Amino acid sequence: MREYEVNEKGHLVFGGCDTVRLAEKYATPVYVMDEGLIRKRLEEIRTVFLQPYPNARAVYASKAFQTKEMCRLVTEGGLGLDVVSGGEIYAALAAGVDPSCMVFHGNNKTPEEIRMAAEAGVGRFIVDNAYELELLEKQAGRGKAPIRVLLRITPGVDSHTHKFISTGNIDSKFGISLEKEERDRIIKRVMDMEGVELMGFHFHVGSQLHENDSHLAALDILLGLVDEVKESLGFEARELNLGGGFGIYYAKGDQTARLKDFVDPMMEKINRFYHERSLPLPLVFIEPGRWICGEAGITLYTVGSVKNIPGIKTYVAVDGGMPDNPRPILYQAKYEAVLANKAAAPKKQIVSVAGKCCESGDILIEDLPVGPVESGDILAVFSTGAYHHSMASNYNRLLRPPVVMVDEGKDHLSVRRETYEDLIAREL
Ligand SMILES: *Cc1c(COP(=O)(O)O)cnc(C)c1O
Repeated sequence: MREYEVNEKGHLVFGGCDTVRLAEKYATPVYVMDEGLIRKRLEEIRTVFLQPYPNARAVYASKAFQTKEMCRLVTEGGLGLDVVSGGEIYAALAAGVDPSCMVFHGNNKTPEEIRMAAEAGVGRFIVDNAYELELLEKQAGRGKAPIRVLLRITPGVDSHTHKFISTGNIDSKFGISLEKEERDRIIKRVMDMEGVELMGFHFHVGSQLHENDSHLAALDILLGLVDEVKESLGFEARELNLGGGFGIYYAKGDQTARLKDFVDPMMEKINRFYHERSLPLPLVFIEPGRWICGEAGITLYTVGSVKNIPGIKTYVAVDGGMPDNPRPILYQAKYEAVLANKAAAPKKQIVSVAGKCCESGDILIEDLPVGPVESGDILAVFSTGAYHHSMASNYNRLLRPPVVMVDEGKDHLSVRRETYEDLIAREL
C-alpha cells in the first residue's frame, strides 16, 4: 500500500488540501488533480531527457487527460502535444497550443480530420497505413509548408501488459507491417509525394510498462529498418519517435517507472548507431501520457449503501462507477483506496467497492481493506489522473464529474460538473 498524508483530523490530504473539505465544497464524485505533481513529472522529463540530450523532444499524449488547463501546463513544461482526433486538436488549439508542436496519431484518421490538421499546420503526422497516404495526398501541396510525416511501424514485439493496451505485437491493428515489399512500397510512395516530407519512423509498444525490454527490442528493429531503407531506398531517417507507455503505481505489484531507465539506454543505442555511421543525430521523441498525470489524480466518492452478505462479502456502493472509471471493466484494472474521513483508522474490514450502474460488472475494487465503513463516508481512489476523465461516459445518464485542481493547499474548479441540461442539450 502506498503512503499518503493524513492531517490532525484524520483526513486524507492531497496536494496540500483536506480531501473531506474538497468533497464538501465541490460535492462527489469529483476528480482531484495535483498540479504540483504534474509539474514535478514535467520537470523530471526536462532533467533526465530534454536537457541531457539536445536532440530529444517530448510530447504529452493528451488522450490520457486533456483539458485546456492541462494543455497549458504541458506547454509551459516544455512539451508538445500528441493528439489523436479532430476533437483533441480543436481543444488544444482553443487552449492556445502552437499547432507546429502537435503530433497527430490515429489508425483511422478521417478525411475531415486530416484536412483540419493540415490547415491548422499540425507539426507531425504519424501515418499508420496506406489508406491514410491516399487521404494525405489530397491535402498535400495545399498549405505553404510541407506536411511532415513519420511512418508508424509494427515492430512485432510483445509487451508484458494487458492485451488491450499492448500495441506493438505483430497482429496489432496499429502501424505498417515490416514485410519488406509492402514496407518499401509505402516508404517510396511517401518519398515521392509532393508537399509531403518523410522525416522518419515511429513505434509505440504498449502502455503501463514497468520494464524497458519491449522498448529496447522495438528500437533494435527500428534501427535495423533505418539501415535497410538507407541501403535500399537511400532514405535517411532524421526523426525517431519511441512512443510512451511508461508505467505508474496503481496497486501492489506495480511500480512507477524510472524514466531514466527507459530513455538512457535508448538514447545510448541511437546516438551510438548514428555516430558509427557518421550521420547527424536524429531528433528523438517520446510520448508519455499516463506517467505524467496518472498518479496526480484521485477520485472522491461518497459511500451510500453498505450491504453485508453474511459469510460472503460486503459491498460498499459509491455515487459513481464505470462511467467515471471504465478501466476495471475494460482491463481488470486494480486500484487502492482509503476512507478519506477515516484515513488513520486501522483497516480491519475487507470490502468490495461497487459502482451505481445497472451492471453486475460495475465493481471498482475487489477486496479492499478499509477502516470502519458507514454510509456517508468519503472514499478516495488513488491513481485516477490518466484515462478516467478522458474516458468518462454518461452511461445510465450519470453526470460526468468535475475536475478540481489542487496545488500546495490551494484548490480551484477547472472543469464544472455536467448538468441534466447538458445531458439533453444535443437532442433535437
Ligand atoms: C496512448 C499512446 C501514448 C501514451 O501512452 P501512455 O501509456 O499513456 O504513456 C503514446 N503514443 C501513442 C501512439 C499512444 O497511442
